[in-house]
Amino acid sequence: MLKDKLTQLQNEIASAKHITYLTGAGVSTHSGIPDYRSKGGIYDGVAMPPEQILSDDTLYNAPEQFHDFVMNNMYFPNAKPNLIHNKIAQSCNKNGQLITQNVDGLDKKAGNQHVIEFHGNLYDIFCTKCQKSFTYDEYKSSYIHQQDQGIIRPGIVLYGEAIDQTKLMQSVNAIQNSNLIIICGTSFVVYPFAQLLTYRNPSARVWAINKTPLAQDAGINAIIGDALDVFSQLEF
Ligand SMILES: [Zn+2]
Repeated sequence: MLKDKLTQLQNEIASAKHITYLTGAGVSTHSGIPDYRSKGGIYDGVAMPPEQILSDDTLYNAPEQFHDFVMNNMYFPNAKPNLIHNKIAQSCNKNGQLITQNVDGLDKKAGNQHVIEFHGNLYDIFCTKCQKSFTYDEYKSSYIHQQDQGIIRPGIVLYGEAIDQTKLMQSVNAIQNSNLIIICGTSFVVYPFAQLLTYRNPSARVWAINKTPLAQDAGINAIIGDALDVFSQLEF
């Protein structure tokens, strides 16, 4: 059963003109990066969900808590791309586009030249007052720009902030122009990312490789299993 599905997917990859990949946290967990959505923080004895901590409200009103949370739960500067990042990079550099929810930068590290980082990149760090850029090591040691007392932040989309319109348009274009769409490592519940699929061409084939079934599954061919295992059996 699984073997048949893999063969079918393999054939579709081989004959596809343009492939779009949609990925999420499940791809990077294999590089040792936990899904931060499953974690929260405790401050002053009060448990806070990640949605609350990772908001523009916390960034400006409780910058120490914000900094503490991202440093302890989101930054893994020694993480390396795994087989899934590498194979997707290989495929994208041939005839594909990756749209990822991941903010860890591992797809670019894998050499993927067609990446849309839908929610930004943790290592794109800047001062909110003067826009000056900072390295990870500088941000690690302080979240305040000494020169102007501005708060330093990562260039990721926080809860309460909008998606970059250019990225949104590029993503919609890629989806519209693909005849094969492969979703991997995401339960597809975060909007507007999950909405991207509605822009697909009606004739496009859609596959999902995930540990659990997707929330929206009409017209999607599902491979329930470990993405690393599945990708190790696919040729690009
Ligand atoms: Zn500044």
